[in-house]
Amino acid sequence: MREGYKNFTTAVYCTVSDVNSITNLEKFEREFAHITDSAHIDKVYLEYYRSNEWCTKEHMLEVKEFFNKKGIKTSGGITTSGRGGEGFASMCFEEDEDKDKIRMAVELCAETFDELILDDFYFTNCRCEKCIVAKGDRTWTEFRLAQKLEVSKDVIMKTAKSINPGMNVIIKYPQWFEYYNETGYDPVNEPKYFDAIYTGTETRNPDYSQQHLPKYLSYFVMRYLESAAPGRNLGGWFDPFDCTYNLTSYLEQGYLTLFAKAKEVTLFCLGALRKQGPWRLMAPAAGEMFEECDELLGKLGNPVGAAAYRPGRARGENDLHSYLGMCGIPLEPGFEYPEGAKTVFLSEGAAVDKDIISKMHKTMMDGGDCIVTSGFVRKVGDAFGQFVNIKVTDRKAIVKEFAGSPNNGISLSGPVPGKDAVLIPQIDYCTNDVWELAAGYAKANNFPIVLRTTYGKGHICVVTIPDNYGDLYNYPAVVLNAIRGLFTKELPVKLLAESQIQLFAYDNNAYILRSDLPYNESVTLEFAEGVKKVTELKSGRELKMDSNRKISMPLMSCSNFAFRVEM
Ligand SMILES: [Zn+2]
Repeated sequence: MREGYKNFTTAVYCTVSDVNSITNLEKFEREFAHITDSAHIDKVYLEYYRSNEWCTKEHMLEVKEFFNKKGIKTSGGITTSGRGGEGFASMCFEEDEDKDKIRMAVELCAETFDELILDDFYFTNCRCEKCIVAKGDRTWTEFRLAQKLEVSKDVIMKTAKSINPGMNVIIKYPQWFEYYNETGYDPVNEPKYFDAIYTGTETRNPDYSQQHLPKYLSYFVMRYLESAAPGRNLGGWFDPFDCTYNLTSYLEQGYLTLFAKAKEVTLFCLGALRKQGPWRLMAPAAGEMFEECDELLGKLGNPVGAAAYRPGRARGENDLHSYLGMCGIPLEPGFEYPEGAKTVFLSEGAAVDKDIISKMHKTMMDGGDCIVTSGFVRKVGDAFGQFVNIKVTDRKAIVKEFAGSPNNGISLSGPVPGKDAVLIPQIDYCTNDVWELAAGYAKANNFPIVLRTTYGKGHICVVTIPDNYGDLYNYPAVVLNAIRGLFTKELPVKLLAESQIQLFAYDNNAYILRSDLPYNESVTLEFAEGVKKVTELKSGRELKMDSNRKISMPLMSCSNFAFRVEM
């Protein structure tokens, strides 16, 4: 086996059919070497139940012993899938039969292991007659949150702790956090009952898979859930599905999981890492990705970024944070309003907080800036008038050319083409009260993309979000630079570049650039006064600033570049 990593541990999840397929241990040992020759593996999760398939305790004990003898830790796994229905079907938590299955699977895990993880099928999309009656007058969200919390407490935790009081019970959250509440996932209350949580960081193919997941999400969701259970988010988990089109797309999930400082990385699953078909490439590639990350991670402090408040019950502008992340905007998300933060970002989902206006008021009176989206302005409606008279109209504009402003909105620069035409909402605002820092040009008119004005000791800033969030990638550098300027004003470095170049920032002034462009591109970094030296993180080689305090460098397609700023 390859040597262990200094900065994180690794695991492989083995589904129940993977476990049941291990019938000849000698043969399996040779097969498993395909993974361990490439990557160090600290732990395996061994699943007892999934979709009506069970593993016997006798077989599980044999498999467990095989791994333990190799020095690999073992934990249990359960996938609460099963009932019919369309798409991925969940269990029905009104059915005793399903609750008995969960109870039995937890019993088996607690008798065999000291830890178990629930795969992210622990949700409900059941609308059977029983659920409709039990729901009553409540919304599906209210009903499902209450229904599932009961199962968590009375079935899962009670069973696990009564058999094995020291049992570490982990709930793994899926990467689709925008839809948690609707399906009963509750990262606000569940972490109070579970010992630990885990994070799904699967982004797969962002263009052609059914879940609409920009790659930055692999980083963002890790950080977001860290704030749901600080210190108890045990790791990130991804798979190769929908990634065979591009091996780098598979690996990027791992890079971003680790850039977000995951303690452990779980590769799903044993069957999809074996030396067969397209999967045979995955383990060797993952092994190299782990090594590259391990060389970097010890040199990175804690992740930082503009404070992105997303309350637990937020809904709206789904996955917009990750589209912005793909435009080189480092975000540090949280479930709580970031009091005291100097840069606060609020998208539509934050408008569910009924105290949001007074919280924003305090931020700006204390000298902070609030950056909000056009969706947020639309959602809060007239209440936004407390700060400034800006409204989102029903009118749209198609903009093909764009502008920044060299003087805080007094004049606009000449037209710069975007990558493609963009459909944006028209924002109604009052000239000479509010200033356009970036705009989109259309026939005989222009429309704001970035608006800013002062409020108290701070600023209120509005960013126009295209109807298709993916069109953010079509904004040219001049617009994206203006948007980044709002978000990264506290950092000593500013990224001047087109979209699909991500920037990860750490509190020791270490940074990583990652390109998702399908071509090589030159990027420019601009450094604040006070920056004495810039070095490449890995080699320590100095990167010289020019007389404008800038460094331009080529960034290879789908690659990482890490550097450090010395003040
Ligand atoms: Zn049901």
